[in-house]
Amino acid sequence: MERTYVMIKPDGVQRGLVGDILSRIEKRGLKLVALRMNVMEEATAKEHYKEHSERPFFGSLVSYVTSGPSVSMVVEGKDSIKIMRAVNGATNPVEALPGTIRGDFAIETGRNIVHASDAPESAEREIALHFEEFEITGYSRIDEGQLYE
Ligand code: ADP
Repeated sequence: MERTYVMIKPDGVQRGLVGDILSRIEKRGLKLVALRMNVMEEATAKEHYKEHSERPFFGSLVSYVTSGPSVSMVVEGKDSIKIMRAVNGATNPVEALPGTIRGDFAIETGRNIVHASDAPESAEREIALHFEEFEITGYSRIDEGQLYE
């Protein structure tokens, strides 16, 4: 089983989309194994997005994700990294397909509601950045016998 880090950014919280987004993840068959709401520290946001530190939007990106409460989670399942990227939709909501979170709810790249790790290395790094090991649970979902071949 693979784990990925997912965040509902402050615009998703402000717009009342937390329940809908969690529901999409759960209904897809992915398992929530850690879940927390907090206002992300600036230093944590800078570390999280360090690959973009030289980009012109870095300052506004850090301000955006630290502007209010966000929801952080660890999501587990077979191919969870690729599946969560597909559930979120394209980074630029203009290109995101209907049926994806960004394709259904967002307009601009700078307010695109959700984050999900893009590769196994970034998932490992982001999970360790945002969660302590003891916060991550392990359990079986009752539908796993039907979800997996
Ligand atoms: P993703 O979040 O889909 O992994 P990236 O890693 O490319 O996308 O970018 C991280 C985040 O930075 C985006 O989700 C978006 O919030 C912000 N971002 C990326 N490109 C831009 C841009 N050109 N203008 C404003 N914000 C941007």
